[in-house]
Amino acid sequence: MAKVLIIGCGGVASVAIHKCCQNSEVFEEICIASRTKSKCDALKEKLEGTTKTKITTRQVDADKVDELIALINDVKPDLVMNIALPYQDLTIMDACLACGVNYMDTANYEPEDLNDPEWRARYEKRCEEAGFSAYFDYSYQWDYREKFEKAGLTALLGSGFDPGVTQAYCAYAQKHLFDQIDTIDILDCNGGDHGYPFATNFNPEINLREVSAPGSYWENGHWVEIPAMSIKREYDFDQVGHKDMYLLHHEEIESLAQTIPGVQRIRFFMTFGQSYLTHMKCLENVGMLSTEPMMFEGHEIVPIQFLKALLPDPATLGPRTVGKTNIGCIFTGKKDGKEKTAYIYNVCDHQECYKEVGSQAISYTTGVPAMIGAMMLLTGKWNKPGVYTVEEFDPDPYMEALNKWGLPWQINDNPVLVD
Ligand code: NDP
Repeated sequence: MAKVLIIGCGGVASVAIHKCCQNSEVFEEICIASRTKSKCDALKEKLEGTTKTKITTRQVDADKVDELIALINDVKPDLVMNIALPYQDLTIMDACLACGVNYMDTANYEPEDLNDPEWRARYEKRCEEAGFSAYFDYSYQWDYREKFEKAGLTALLGSGFDPGVTQAYCAYAQKHLFDQIDTIDILDCNGGDHGYPFATNFNPEINLREVSAPGSYWENGHWVEIPAMSIKREYDFDQVGHKDMYLLHHEEIESLAQTIPGVQRIRFFMTFGQSYLTHMKCLENVGMLSTEPMMFEGHEIVPIQFLKALLPDPATLGPRTVGKTNIGCIFTGKKDGKEKTAYIYNVCDHQECYKEVGSQAISYTTGVPAMIGAMMLLTGKWNKPGVYTVEEFDPDPYMEALNKWGLPWQINDNPVLVD
């Protein structure tokens, strides 16, 4: 039915590609293009013979708009799935506009070079005006709204789990469960154990930047920012058990604050073990999380990129990770004049994911919704020109697809609330 160009071939992309290949009716043809072509070729070799989907591979530097335009014009896809890094969001959106092709990704834009003076000036203005200091925000991609609308193209932002599925849960709760949602707590619990003293479950650079930043939440129409890891709660997660979780800034709070009418508070919590936090603090204290280039024995290095080279590749954690994830949203609000609560969530087992697609659950829970988001656009179930986040579309076909394609969800009508 459709041809898709997938950019990136890391942990998340590998799962999305496996799922596209299970869904050959929609994904008739895929082209996998990434910086390191050998990874694309290896995956193609692994999948060929197991799927009806036709697979081709290409090399591309997605930081370069001209290269992307040449690639897109050559491949002529119906959709470009950006599963590279947030650094490439804008170049890939530019290329999609130039070629008249729909776009989707799994994380919002963040610059690689935090010292770019133009970006810095805008960032500092936003920190002051909006009140949160994360390096990423939606404004850069929301700036493309008019261009995509005028071109009659759709850009779907952040179709992973969080962001992504968590916003579909919010849209579902808004449509079916509540007349008014008052509060949303997004809980991201990874009860998995990979046996290493320290490793990250997705790209280390993006992950460590995110979790070492100040936390923030939305309350009564404005952001409240707190020092990193300074709000801690314990929660008893279904099928995982008791875990410590910490309040983080997270991108979907920014869009949900605008799209869920009258919401009073939105927070995001992620679980971390003590070993992870101790390692992270130590690495931060000695400067290993720095994104500033420095000279080392005649070579320029960026400490966090050097650290990435030392850490286990998240794509290799699959065989050794055991345990489950439990990710979802707790809602409070009103229905038919009465107070109501609900927890919509998914539980995913690391080893089951490994058996199915050779990856751990963090890549799985992101890669499956990436395929589903693409399917929504390709089948025309989600189709409106402009730039949108997941909760701005009808949640029903997406929620149905989650059940069908490996991320079944459930609802607890009486969850323990987070204080
Ligand atoms: P990886 O580092 O495993 O993979 C990134 C891939 O992008 C690699 O194949 C890499 O190539 C490729 N790449 C990087 N730079 C370029 C470039 N300039 N040109 C072409 N290809 C490039 O990352 P993950 O798979 O862990 O993460 C992928 C995305 O998913 C990220 O944006 C991440 O933030 C997002 N994510 C979203 C989540 C959600 O729930 N929404 C959760 C987890 C991740 P190479 O092999 O050469 O390095």
